[in-house]
Amino acid sequence: MPQEMSYFTKDEVKEMEQSAAQTTEQEKNNNAARRQRKTDENRNRNNKNYTTLLWIVIALVAVLFVLAMIISVWNDKTTQAASVPTNASQAVSVDSAASEVQEVQQTELVGPQVSKDDWFMVLASPGNPLPEGFDPETELVDSAGYYLDSRAVEDFFAMEQAATDAGLQLKVISGFRSANRQQSLYEAQVQQFLNDGLSQQEAEAQAQRIEQKQYESDHNTGLAVDIVPTYKQTKDAAVITQLPEYQWLVEHAAEYGFILRYPQDKEEVTGVEFKPWHWRYVGKEMAAFLTENNLTLDEYWQTYFS
Ligand SMILES: [Zn+2]
Repeated sequence: MPQEMSYFTKDEVKEMEQSAAQTTEQEKNNNAARRQRKTDENRNRNNKNYTTLLWIVIALVAVLFVLAMIISVWNDKTTQAASVPTNASQAVSVDSAASEVQEVQQTELVGPQVSKDDWFMVLASPGNPLPEGFDPETELVDSAGYYLDSRAVEDFFAMEQAATDAGLQLKVISGFRSANRQQSLYEAQVQQFLNDGLSQQEAEAQAQRIEQKQYESDHNTGLAVDIVPTYKQTKDAAVITQLPEYQWLVEHAAEYGFILRYPQDKEEVTGVEFKPWHWRYVGKEMAAFLTENNLTLDEYWQTYFS
């Protein structure tokens, strides 16, 4: 402190010095507090920024998840719509390969929309008889006295006409049979095997593969017709299969609603020997399905009705 300015007392000067020092100290403290406040404010601002960012990320993840779920459900619905509703309980799957496999399997299993009560689906086979007294309404289809279920007659005549137009000669050798008529055919067949030296049990088992008991024959349904070439009226399978009449029927019968009821490679399924002359009406849609998929009527029943 310069001497010429000492018009304050020493005490005053001291007091002033102290006061100035205090002020400086206070300012220092104030500045420190301000800095601290600023730092805190910055920290708070940074914290707020982090929180906002976190919420945006969470929202984005949530939106993506919801989108994925929507796409997954939509895919699943599309798959179900394209295939058949045999299996409603499909797991939601985004694996397209798995979906494709599922779709193919279901498509293979789908047949025409029919019920076991539809008249053209009736099944008679060894050990699986028709109801007692089963007796369909029939119409004459051949001058020799053979009848078919009235509802199948129109398609039968159309098939016969188409074969004739193609230069072929079809001859009906059996149609609807009454229960009594079938039973006598069966008993005659059993007797023949007994004559050949078979036991009663063996004779009955073998006869079933050729002529079934009453109500167990396809001929009892009124939907079966035996057809051979007019010029070769035989039940020799090796001969019939070589002739154009049989070959034409194999190719075209389904177009008129008929199937080969007892194919060669299905003897264990049908329980009946190969009968290349025996045709059975099942309606056009079912005939096409069974023929395309190499299925017998028995297999359709086993797969869809049991
Ligand atoms: Zn027959």
